[in-house]
This record gives sequence, C-alpha cells and structure tokens, in this order.
Amino acid sequence: MADINLLPQDDATNGWNNILPTRIPNLPLTDAVSADWVIVGAGFAGLAAARRLAENRPEDHIILLEAQELSGAASGRNAGFAIDLPHGRQLQDELSVMPRHTRLARSAMDYLQHQVDTHGIECQWSPRGQYHGAVSAHAFKTDIEPFASILDQLGEPYRLLDRQQLAAEIGTSYYHGALYAPGAILMNPAALVRGLGDSLPENVTVYENSPVIQADYGGTITLTTNTGSVQARQLILGTGIYTEDFGFYKRSLIPIALSASLSRSLTIDEQKALGGQEDWGLTPVGMPGVTMRYTQDHRILIRQKVEYGPGCRRSDAYRKRLRVVHQDRFNARFPMLPEVTMEHTWTGFVCAAQNQGHGFGKVADNIHSAVCQNGIGVTKGTISGLLAADLACGRDNPLIADLQSLGTPNQLPPQPLLGLGVRANLAWRHWMGRAEK
Ligand SMILES: Cc1cc2nc3c(=O)[nH]c(=O)nc-3n(C[C@H](O)[C@H](O)[C@H](O)COP(=O)(O)OP(=O)(O)OC[C@H]3O[C@@H](n4cnc5c(N)ncnc54)[C@H](O)[C@@H]3O)c2cc1C
Repeated sequence: MADINLLPQDDATNGWNNILPTRIPNLPLTDAVSADWVIVGAGFAGLAAARRLAENRPEDHIILLEAQELSGAASGRNAGFAIDLPHGRQLQDELSVMPRHTRLARSAMDYLQHQVDTHGIECQWSPRGQYHGAVSAHAFKTDIEPFASILDQLGEPYRLLDRQQLAAEIGTSYYHGALYAPGAILMNPAALVRGLGDSLPENVTVYENSPVIQADYGGTITLTTNTGSVQARQLILGTGIYTEDFGFYKRSLIPIALSASLSRSLTIDEQKALGGQEDWGLTPVGMPGVTMRYTQDHRILIRQKVEYGPGCRRSDAYRKRLRVVHQDRFNARFPMLPEVTMEHTWTGFVCAAQNQGHGFGKVADNIHSAVCQNGIGVTKGTISGLLAADLACGRDNPLIADLQSLGTPNQLPPQPLLGLGVRANLAWRHWMGRAEK
C-alpha cells in the first residue's frame, strides 16, 4: 500500500491556458468503479498511453485519472516546442546514440500530427522549425559550431545565420547568430493537451480533479481518491515528478522548476516594428539563456529560470519577482516594443534524472511507467506513453528497444547532499553561461 502525499497543485497563472476559451472539465471520480486498465496522469505521457491502449485493446475499458484539469501541469505549461533533434545534454551522447533520440521524437511528432489533423485540434500547430541562438561570439563558437558539426555527421539539414540574417527572420538583433533547423514543431501546449484529452476514444473514461491519494498493488490494483476508487487489472503511471510516492524510482527523480511569461498580443503597429516571420521559436545555448516564441496570435513568450524545485510549489511573490526579470530580458531583446508588457507568469515542475535516463518500462507485476522526460516531454512523454502501452499489451514495436537503450534514472545521493549538489550544479551552469542572459 502506498500513501501519496505529494499531490500536484499547479498555479492558475499558466498563460497558454488562460488565453483559451473556458473549458468544462470532465467530472471527478465519485464512485467505486472498475476497469481493465487505469492510467494516472493526463500529461503527454498519460494521454498517449490512454490513446494507444484504446487502439491496441478496443474492447477494454480504460480509466484515466488526473489530479487537476487537463493542461494544468507541466505538459500544458511548457514552451511549446516539439523537438526532433538531440537536445541539451543529449548532445554529449555518443554519435551512434543520437539517431535513436531523433527516431523516437519524430515518431511522437507523427503521432501528434495525426491527432491534430484527425481531430482538428486548434493549437497553433506550426512546423516552423527552431533557432538555436547564441548571444555571445564565444557561445557561437563553443556551442553552435560544434552542434553544426554533429548535424553534418548525422546528415541533418540546418542553416547558420549571422546577427543580421537572424534579425531579418525574428526581429531582434540581440543575438550574435543562430543555427536554424527545420524539424521542430511549435504549438500552444495547453490547447494541444486539451485537444488530445477531449478526443480520446470512447473506451477511455477521463476523470479530472481526481488526485490519487492511495495505491494498493495487491492481486487487483486499487487506486483511491478523496471521493472514489478504481479497481483495475493493469496500471500505467504517467505521473511525472510525482511518481516516487507511488513507490517507484525512489531517490532517482530530480524536480526542476521552469518558469515562463507570455506578453499581450502585439498591435498591428508593433507587429510591423518587430518585423520577421509570422511565428518562430528560439532556444538558448546556456542555462541562464532565454527560450523565446513569437506566436501566431502575436504574443512573445519568455522562458527563463531553471531551479531545483522540491515540493513542487511556488508563491505569488516568487512569480511577481520573476515577471520583473522576464520583462527585463524582453526589454533587452525587443527595444522596438517599449510598451509591450508580460501578462502571464507561471512555473511548472518537470522531472529529470542525473543520467538523463527515462522512467520507462515494467516496474512491477501489471504496472508500467512512462515518466521522467528530462525536460523534453512533448516528444519524449508522448513516445514513452505510447510505448508503455505497447509494452504492456505485448505489442512488438522496435522503438521500445530504442527507448530502453537510453537507460533508466540512476540512484541519487540522500538529502541534504542531493539538494546541495543539484543547486551547486545549476549555479555553476548559470555562472558559466552568464553571457547568454
Ligand atoms: C516552463 C516550461 C517549459 C518547457 N518547455 C518544453 C518544451 O518547449 N518542449 C518540451 O518538450 N518540453 C518542455 N518542458 C517539459 C515538459 O513540459 C515536460 O517534460 C512534460 O510535460 C512531461 O510530461 P509528462 O506527461 O511526463 O508529465 P506531466 O506533464 O508532469 O504530467 C503528469 C500528470 O500527472 C498528474 N498527476 C501526478 N500525480 C497525480 C496523482 N496523485 N493523481 C492523479 N494525477 C496525478 C499531474 O497532475 C500531471 O497532469 C517545459 C516545461 C516547463 C515547465
């Protein structure tokens, strides 16, 4: 029996969500019910697992339990990049490993593309690609040029842009230069998560605002919420950073807090002053750097701040301070938009492993997991949920071996060493990349 004490409680300030029309959530669980399968967590992982199970087993009844509303947690509050190329620390992997990341990510993107097309999900889905921007000449040399060399070896297309060329495409001349790669897809992640959750097949029943507070893994699995319970033969966990209380990956998952702000829509005059393309997305080379989006509804996203996030809570005062920093970063990059202010500021909690492993696979009899996407969950969450469903159903899929080969999260040192270590590591990376602010 596992008591689940750390429950998701995300703030209500997610801009992607708040600019969408009001949605009526599915009812919470209020009875004792049974099903063939139960999935916990309706992020990218849980949603993909539910859909794939329904495809694999059309006769089975599947229940999806979500603690909050759809799009409440990290999957609905990220920067909205579906990234196909090796990213961040994956670039330190052996060259032979990198095509696996790409294969997994592109399969996820195809799967998502199919849902967006089939169900007409309106989420500003945009196959626009991605800029990797360096503020300093130094970072261009130490990060962008080696990245280009890796892409050469992988046979992946890209373009290098100098300051003027980049400014012509995205409006700001703040960056020394960038690498543009065409494969990434941009979207409003909250709209995508809502659309995926609201278009699940009929044999899936979704209960929102239904946090699981107790799990019993006897012969039959029993999950209890405050107002009901589910009994099922099989369980898939898509619970992200909240997984340890379910009894799995103990002391292996690192909670990371990431924050973002979204501006108001630019006026027509402001759009002209900015110039550049209809929409775009840029990711930074260093940790203190800023991820930016210009959206199809003419808003600018600033994603900045990476922190250790145990407890998965942040205060209004924290977000207020953060907005000032985000506005400052915005002003430095967009002096041609002096009147534009940040309207929404939020934080989300993601799950990372020290060794970048994935919490994917069979974790006990009749229990599978698809957790720990190491900060790139649009693609990795989707593919691990899909593959967890295939693995649990015994469906052969060569991508399972690809994902398994990336390893599982390693054991971490106990507290307080862990907290000290993670904070020191992040502080060091912020210091090393300070020129990219
Ligand atoms: C600001 C920010 C920017 C980011 N940018 C990007 C990006 O551009 N591209 C990208 O790929 N990734 C990005 N990420 C990371 C990405 O959002 C995550 O990797 C992804 O959401 C993980 O998906 P998931 O389904 O594994 O977990 P989650 O999205 O965390 O979903 C887990 C779900 O489980 C539910 N849950 C947990 N415990 C319980 C319980 N006891 N009972 C019921 N339900 C429960 C939670 O409420 C949640 O809905 C970003 C994250 C943030 C915060």
